[in-house]
Amino acid sequence: MNVLVLNSGSSTLKFQLIATDPVRISENRDERLCRGQMEGIGEAATIKVHTGHGTAEQFTASLADIPAALEFLVQWLLSDASGIAKIRSLADIHAVGHRVVHGGELFAESVLITDEVLKGIEDCVELAPLHNPNNIRGIQASKQVFGDRLPQVAVFDTAFHQSLPEHAFLYAVPYHWYQRHRIRRYGFHGTSHRYVSERYRALSGRTKEQTNIITLHLGNGCSAAAIRQGRSVDTSMGMTPLEGLVMGTRSGDVDPAILNRMANREGLSLNELEVLLNTESGLLGISGLSNDMRVLLQELQDDDHRRAQLAIDIFCHRARKYIGAFLASMGGADAVVFTGGIGENSPEIRRRILEGLEWAGLGLDHLQNERLLGLEGPISSKDSVLHAFVIPTDEELLIARDTVHCVAGEQHPFPAKARSLVERQS
Ligand code: ADP
Repeated sequence: MNVLVLNSGSSTLKFQLIATDPVRISENRDERLCRGQMEGIGEAATIKVHTGHGTAEQFTASLADIPAALEFLVQWLLSDASGIAKIRSLADIHAVGHRVVHGGELFAESVLITDEVLKGIEDCVELAPLHNPNNIRGIQASKQVFGDRLPQVAVFDTAFHQSLPEHAFLYAVPYHWYQRHRIRRYGFHGTSHRYVSERYRALSGRTKEQTNIITLHLGNGCSAAAIRQGRSVDTSMGMTPLEGLVMGTRSGDVDPAILNRMANREGLSLNELEVLLNTESGLLGISGLSNDMRVLLQELQDDDHRRAQLAIDIFCHRARKYIGAFLASMGGADAVVFTGGIGENSPEIRRRILEGLEWAGLGLDHLQNERLLGLEGPISSKDSVLHAFVIPTDEELLIARDTVHCVAGEQHPFPAKARSLVERQS
């Protein structure tokens, strides 16, 4: 099957075309035919594409909206210019898999998109007002371009964390906040945490039930997940992606009483403060330099920059603290797994986070840690009780694979979870 994976934003459309099927999935032999992104949709858009053979191209086109962008993309895929031999007509695209940010409590797994499912995604707009509307536009555009007969599948960032027990997903606030306003921990990056946990299983030869790990997705956004018996039982992001670890521009955990104080002192509205916590905090806010970990590490090395040092120290301290908390709450784990741009590429940050975890039986294999840059494998010493791994994430691949499974009819019926929500509200 050739699966088109789409991630649609307000003026961007990221895409990958992946050839896969159940046999390829079981043998980890899926084939990426091309990937790329369109930016500046609504005016003169820039389109960047990489084909499976490694060639990269960039061009511009005037694209009014997401449907126009998708139409353009499809024409390009079908043309000789793309050089994709497997795609000669629309019929060679067999399904579309969409990244959808928020599935609320309605979606605990990926689903084939029906009118009912689309309504469910619309119902989650109030939980992710900046993201779900764009995802919906991507789904509608696909219907427009491919027609009703092409199967479309929704894969949710939140779904993997729907297995959290109540004591992990409820905040200790008045209970009716949850009943009336759906205030609870949802968690995000679920596709990434699930992908690396499944890859860990393959690498370590374990079954799902034997998979007890802590995954750290450290990119621009950062989150940790506690995975017991292959299921997410706790995670650091909360009602929104703002909670938890220190991130590029997000604060992660803060005392909520700070908001009122800062509103009074600086004359800021709650909305303005939330924007500041999302866009001017984290590594950027502490260092005053950059949200990019590479820049901070360089500044530290070249100039011994004090606030770059501080930002890195706070980042690593918070990550280590979450590892400790999750080890305690999940009753120990077999491995800590790093992924995301920082987790995959920075031996220095991995070392700084893991230093001081010897008490938990984790020893670092320094040579192996330095070697693994964007590659998968173990980085802990042979005698470690708690292991450490690096596993590059591949959310698009998981979306393509889920699309194959859903099209084959292996998804669970919708909306099993919706009923429990209604019961709680009544
Ligand atoms: P996103 O969350 O947007 O998908 P990525 O997962 O690509 O982002 O991660 C981006 C982050 O990864 C940036 O902070 C960048 O500095 C960091 N990063 C990428 N390569 C390295 C590296 N070699 N060393 C340290 N940080 C890196």
